[in-house]
Amino acid sequence: MKQINKTEAIEKIENFFKEKHEKEKVRKIKKLAMSHQIKLREKRKKFCKKCFSMNLRVLSVKNKIKKVKCEDCGSLMRWKIE
Ligand SMILES: [Zn+2]
Repeated sequence: MKQINKTEAIEKIENFFKEKHEKEKVRKIKKLAMSHQIKLREKRKKFCKKCFSMNLRVLSVKNKIKKVKCEDCGSLMRWKIE
């Protein structure tokens, strides 16, 4: 893989999360972000923290807490809504 600089990496990550991708690609983009010390922030909520699947289903939104379930591995995640 070609070495890219931080600006290119940020751009790549921005574009990446505009669409759905396979787990393997999500894992790679996370690795890219980490290697450039780029914070994913809100984008972190677009994939499962366990299996990197982007197939997430919102179960409920209550008291500013969003409950999301991964359709692939069944993990439950809770996110605070800002
Ligand atoms: Zn999962």
